[in-house]
Amino acid sequence: MAEAPKTPVERKTLDQREQMSELERLRHSCAHIMATAVLRIWPDAMLDIGPPTKEGFYYDFDLPSHRLSPEDFPKIEAEMQKVVKENQVFEKSIKTRDEARAYFEVRNQKYKVERLADIPEREAISFFQNGEFVDLCAGPHVMRTGNVKAFKLLTVASAYFRGNEKNPQLQRIYGTAFPNKTELEAWLAAQEEAKRRDHRKIGKEMQLFTFDDDVGPGLPLWMPKGAVLIEELEKLAKETEFRAGYVRVRTPHLAKESMYKTSGHLPYYAESMFPPMELREETAGGERVVEKYYLKAMNCPHHHKIFGSVPRSYRDLPLRLAEYGTCYRYEQSGELMGLMRVRSMQMNDAHIYCTPEQFASEFKAVNEMYLHYFKIFGFEKYQMRFSTHDPKRLGEKFVDEPELWKKTEDMVRNVLQESGINFVEIPNEAAFYGPKIDVQVWSVTGREFTIATNQVDFAVPRRFGLVYKTRENSEGTPLCIHRAPLGTHERFVAFLIEHYAGNFPLWLAPEQVRVLPIGDPQHEYAHAIVAEMRAKGIRAEIDASGDKIGAKIRNAEKDKVHTMFIIGQKEQDAGNVAVRVHGKGDQGAKPKDEVVAQLVADIESRRS
Ligand SMILES: [Zn+2]
Ligand SMILES: [Zn+2]
Repeated sequence: MAEAPKTPVERKTLDQREQMSELERLRHSCAHIMATAVLRIWPDAMLDIGPPTKEGFYYDFDLPSHRLSPEDFPKIEAEMQKVVKENQVFEKSIKTRDEARAYFEVRNQKYKVERLADIPEREAISFFQNGEFVDLCAGPHVMRTGNVKAFKLLTVASAYFRGNEKNPQLQRIYGTAFPNKTELEAWLAAQEEAKRRDHRKIGKEMQLFTFDDDVGPGLPLWMPKGAVLIEELEKLAKETEFRAGYVRVRTPHLAKESMYKTSGHLPYYAESMFPPMELREETAGGERVVEKYYLKAMNCPHHHKIFGSVPRSYRDLPLRLAEYGTCYRYEQSGELMGLMRVRSMQMNDAHIYCTPEQFASEFKAVNEMYLHYFKIFGFEKYQMRFSTHDPKRLGEKFVDEPELWKKTEDMVRNVLQESGINFVEIPNEAAFYGPKIDVQVWSVTGREFTIATNQVDFAVPRRFGLVYKTRENSEGTPLCIHRAPLGTHERFVAFLIEHYAGNFPLWLAPEQVRVLPIGDPQHEYAHAIVAEMRAKGIRAEIDASGDKIGAKIRNAEKDKVHTMFIIGQKEQDAGNVAVRVHGKGDQGAKPKDEVVAQLVADIESRRS
């Protein structure tokens, strides 16, 4: 049984409940219907909670008499169908705390008794009843069980009560519900497609990356074909950043504890870092720790040190320090997921140090870089989520600089508006030291993905004592823009695999061309073409096996090779190649020189 994430669900406030969407009400109501059915089938089931989720709903049960599995779904769904048909009303009643406790104690519902304590004193304790089923719940629901017209149970998982390993283990059933069957079917089809495109599955089939127990969980090993993807992305980033006036730096993978104290990562971020490496020294009494080193979880502090290593003047700004820096984060093992969540990652990082006057144009250029990349990768839908501060929480959740907050947020908002960028503003979600912009993109199949986060930082440069000499010969503190448009290689490649279903555009394809001689007499010509293409930088291979041409084509298609050259005697005599493109089929015979020149041009322009 899979394990559910160990993060406890925070109880919704009454405000949040009122804001629950129609769909969330529907799904939460469906959770009640599922619990009704489970209790009918297994009357000893003890209930915990059943909130809506982003994709549906779940309900947690303690079910001593039975271990749930997907084989139970038809039976549970059939019972749910009956509950729907009975068209029961969701009826609300208010109880006193003592009444509520007594009600659940008599029925041996110990989790409900514990959950009672979560309800703040000022909140009324409400029960919702549909048919014979009664739940402790603040709502809201749909009117009747009959309103739930399309649902499906999806998976089971184990889940600790309140997400805590020390508590009893419960069984969770995940399901989903939609307003109608058509929407449910469409969602299920999209799920199937997502499964087909799963980067873990394709990554294995194409031999892009692997994990090994001896290396450690969450530490990907890039195989030759995966390394090609990475090299190409780095090449793209380096070219783009060079044109945009960035300079490259290189920094070590670790640093002393003192630096992370300056940056504030320690102690606040310690849980997300690998434990320190301790350098020890023999003493008369035994040993003592002389120094602690940490693997870096972020590149910023190292870059700040480079900024601060020489005196800076306004003439040096903006200074744009770029590095594909490798970072290490100690993600919980339950949270690791293929390349999407890992413990080592290479980030398309850069820090732009600028004066307040330069901020707008620098930030604008960063946005333009994003749009440039979106075009190359064919991301048609995107949104920037601009997180701002809450003036009421200055000095607590947000650094206490009211004027700087206002000024920077205004600048960010203006630039976003001026550049015609699609964005939404989210109050109270900024980082401690400045506003942040999360960039969301959608794949061709509609999968949403946070590609990267930009942050405007007006507090940390001060912590590091970073200064520059202003035009007026006084001391100024630079603003710092953190940006990483291509995110980390790990997450970005995972997303690209799913976006393209492994059928990479020519410029990215690990194997761009495979030459397939029909018989032995064409081998020499085929080898010569491969050598010529390699000399021109094209990743070309030959299938020199004794297979029949049909099998060679099938293998190349299976390997998702972008372009195939099929060479028979006729092609060889005419100096032609018969071109076949993966997923597009036969393109006919063409002069070899012309085809190769076209490939070189297409690769160069990163045309997809
Ligand atoms: Zn409810
Ligand atoms: Zn940074």
